[in-house]
Amino acid sequence: MARFHFRCIECGETYREDPQLLVCPACSAHQVAGGAIRGVLEVVIRSLPSSWPHFRASDAEFLEAFLPISDPACLPPLPVGDTPLLEAPRLRRELGMPRLWLKDDTRNPSGSTKDRASLLVVTKALEYGCDTVATASTGNAASALAAVAAAAGIRAVVLVPATAPPAKLTQMQSYGATVVPVAGSYDRAFELCREACERFGWYNRSTALNPFTIEGKKTAALEIAVALSLESPDAVLVPTGDGVILAGLGKGFRDLAGAGLIDHPPRLIAVQPAGSAAIVRGFSAGGAHAAVHAGAASIADSLTVEAPRNAVGCLAEIASSKGSAVEVGDDVLRASITRLARLTGVFAEPAGAAALAGLQVALDRGLVDRGERVVLLITGSGLKDVAAAAAALPRIEPVEPTLEAIGRRVATTG
Ligand SMILES: [Zn+2]
Repeated sequence: MARFHFRCIECGETYREDPQLLVCPACSAHQVAGGAIRGVLEVVIRSLPSSWPHFRASDAEFLEAFLPISDPACLPPLPVGDTPLLEAPRLRRELGMPRLWLKDDTRNPSGSTKDRASLLVVTKALEYGCDTVATASTGNAASALAAVAAAAGIRAVVLVPATAPPAKLTQMQSYGATVVPVAGSYDRAFELCREACERFGWYNRSTALNPFTIEGKKTAALEIAVALSLESPDAVLVPTGDGVILAGLGKGFRDLAGAGLIDHPPRLIAVQPAGSAAIVRGFSAGGAHAAVHAGAASIADSLTVEAPRNAVGCLAEIASSKGSAVEVGDDVLRASITRLARLTGVFAEPAGAAALAGLQVALDRGLVDRGERVVLLITGSGLKDVAAAAAALPRIEPVEPTLEAIGRRVATTG
């Protein structure tokens, strides 16, 4: 008997594994061009471990136990995940939150959480015998696919907005991906990638459309639980664009609760830029869908989407976990980069610092109590978008090469 099957998150219909099957055929009939994905499929694994396996979270045995992997020999030879859960004592003291942690996903191979999804998608592509994997991306998913594909020796084609931060473009190009900058938005690149995959027969890794992207990201939840000695945190703050990272975390905590490994899933709190806040608006409206945020724009390029692809799944996870959704301005995001770096030693891109920015809003609104066990997911490295961090800092002029000049500079900058 197959180890897993798919279930449509909208109509509940179940489907057997099929390399050609990405979304529910019935619900995708209602697909609107440029809108959220209709008929997103969730992976249902028939038998999850009932006790915690004694492997590192990046070991093949661990991944095989919790993920829908049929042939572990197809796992790319690149350790992904198993990132640290940091206590951040200085940030704890400043916020008066003695049980606050950072899940530092900047330490993944390509510097972002997206590596988790790419690892599973490339594994499945190899199982299916595909020779090319394609994705649309704001930048990080493309870099992640490029990195994992390079390790595995499979071709990657990535469609990204031409306005993606230069470091991300250089990164994906260096890994050897075929980089196609699109003179248009991420949303346009997403539709083009879908059409290109159908035309050229490529395997589509685009987030939410490929169900393994959601499933792959759940490993962050498993690692958080094991780092807290299999106790669930009370709340996790999640930078949110397409809604797939939050949905993946929700799936991970639900899997653990279903297997009896934790008591209950934590509240999931989505954090979005005010300029790209479709999920926040959808949550506030109380519906199962999110309206398009036309003209979405933010310094957090990773979170800038007009139509969150997994709006349905993200809003469902927020609701079932009794979570919430908050928005933050770009000025707060920018300030949060330096606040996080100076108090914790973790340098994040604007999207990565969004969890900290959102925490302040959540505290002010009483969505989080200072005594609770709270985790901030730091999704991407600041080295991916140095210009965004630099914009919040004063320009540093060089000094004469003398001790006196150095003394004067240190005295004036403290
Ligand atoms: Zn369906």
